[in-house]
Formats: sequence, C-alpha cells, structure tokens
Amino acid sequence: MLKGKTALVTGSTSGIGLGIAQALAAQGANIVLNGFGDVEGPKASITALGAKVAYHGADMSRPAEIEAMMAFAAAEFGRVDILVNNAGIQHVARIENFPVEKWDAILAINLSSAFHATRLALPAMLAADWGRIINVASVHGLVASAEKSAYVTAKHGLVGLTKVTALENAVSGVTCNAICPGWVLTPLVQKQVDAKAAALGISNEAAKKQLLGEKEPSMQFTTPEELGALAVFFCSPAGNNIRGVAWNMDGGWVAQ
Ligand code: NAD
Repeated sequence: MLKGKTALVTGSTSGIGLGIAQALAAQGANIVLNGFGDVEGPKASITALGAKVAYHGADMSRPAEIEAMMAFAAAEFGRVDILVNNAGIQHVARIENFPVEKWDAILAINLSSAFHATRLALPAMLAADWGRIINVASVHGLVASAEKSAYVTAKHGLVGLTKVTALENAVSGVTCNAICPGWVLTPLVQKQVDAKAAALGISNEAAKKQLLGEKEPSMQFTTPEELGALAVFFCSPAGNNIRGVAWNMDGGWVAQ
C-alpha cells in the first residue's frame, strides 16, 4: 500500500517508533530511522521486511540537527511523505523538585521537535498534495497524572499542534493526527516499573500489575505492533478525511 512512499520516524531505534517503522516498512514504505543506541539491529529488522532503510542520528532537541536530518531524508529518497513525530523522554518528580534541565529537555524533545520536523516536511508534502503527519502523543495529551508536569504539558501541546497542523492543511491531501497510547511496555515505561518495584520492595511482575491497575482497566499493555497498525490505517485511503484527531489506544484509561 505504501510502495514508493518514504516515512521518517523520529526516535525509532526502540519501542513504539521502531514498531511503527516496521509496520510502515511492511506496507512497502522506505524508512528513515532516527534515535540513539543500537542502530544496526533496527536497520536489519527493516531490511528483513524488504524495505529500503536509512538512518540519521539527529538529536531531536537541536533544531539545526533536525534540519540536517530532513535534508538527508530528501537527498536519500526524494522527499518525506509520512512524518511520524515519536521521539520522547520522561522524567517523574513533583514540580518543586523537577530539575529545570529535564523540563527543558522534555519540552524540546517531546514537543518542539515535532514543530521543527513538521515545518520542514510540509512544503514538499503540499507540493505533492499528499502527506501524513502522525504525532505520537499519549493519554497524557488528554488527561494528567501527578509528577509528570513536563511530559503532560508537552503532550497536551502536541495534541494542540496536531489540531493546528490539520486545520492549516485541511483543504490539501496532507493530514495530521495524533496517537495517544496508554501504557506500552518499552524501555521508557520499564524504568517506571523498576522504580515502583524498588520503592515498594515488590517484584517486577507485581509492579507491572500495580501500574496497569492504577490507570488501565483492560490490565493489558498496548503493543508497538497495535500502534503501528493504527499508523498504517492513518496512511491508508480510509484515512483521507481523518484530520486533527487524538486517538487513544489505552485499554479504557481515558474512558473512566
Ligand atoms: P523508548 O525509550 O523505547 O524510545 C524512545 C526513542 O526516542 C528511542 O529511539 C530513543 O533513542 C529516542 N530518543 C530519545 N531522545 C532522543 C533525542 N534527543 N533525539 C533523538 N531521539 C531520541 O520509548 P517509547 O515508549 O517507545 O516512546 C516513544 C514515544 O511514545 C514517546 O514520545 C513517548 O512519550 C510516547 N508514549 C509512550 C508510552 C509508553 O507507555 N511507553 C505511552 C504513551 C506515549
């Protein structure tokens, strides 16, 4: 379905971003990966799906590096048709204890990076009259939790950016939507599981159950594969008139 299209997924060396990149690759899209840590494993997983893959290591907190990454993607594959703004980090602390540098980093990586990548991707998408911008927000773009001030602020902002991007391009073939996962068992959440297990002196499994029990009625983690399938749906012809939604996939978290 996506043969000949190019998808750039930020923060795609791990977790949800990698799951979305793999789902788009399985539909035939060329993939530009981004993120830190192991690169060869994620690249090989895309190649194994028969898709072309390139990698750029831009630090998404740095606008100049985002510009270089977008230019690199255009040089490699012609243009970016599908932009998935996914890179994100977390830090958990009460506001009065929240490290200022963590606040700045979360706002830069989880929110401002999406603005920069979007502004740089839009001209070519509009010229082609086709594009998909998918912002990986969170249930925390819709509701709050204590001790996550920067994350909740950034994700609510990202949902706002999603709506503005959708409206500004509403009469074009470029759509913009957000995906709002609940708990997904990636390294970002495993850190929170580990912290809970250590704080309460309980096992990893018990800490996972507690985490789910506090928020997610289904008592199940959403998977990167399920999120990848939603991203593919947004890119399908059926997604042509889905514009500005913040679609939660959260086991009932926000329904409560
Ligand atoms: P993860 O830690 O597995 O992956 C994060 C990715 O972002 C990695 O590839 C990492 O290298 C990359 N990254 C981090 N800082 C970066 C930077 N400065 N520049 C470039 N890349 C950077 O986490 P994940 O759980 O897969 O999270 C992906 C997105 O999904 C994030 O935006 C997160 O907020 C969102 N999300 C996660 C959950 C969850 O439960 N895991 C729930 C809702 C939303």
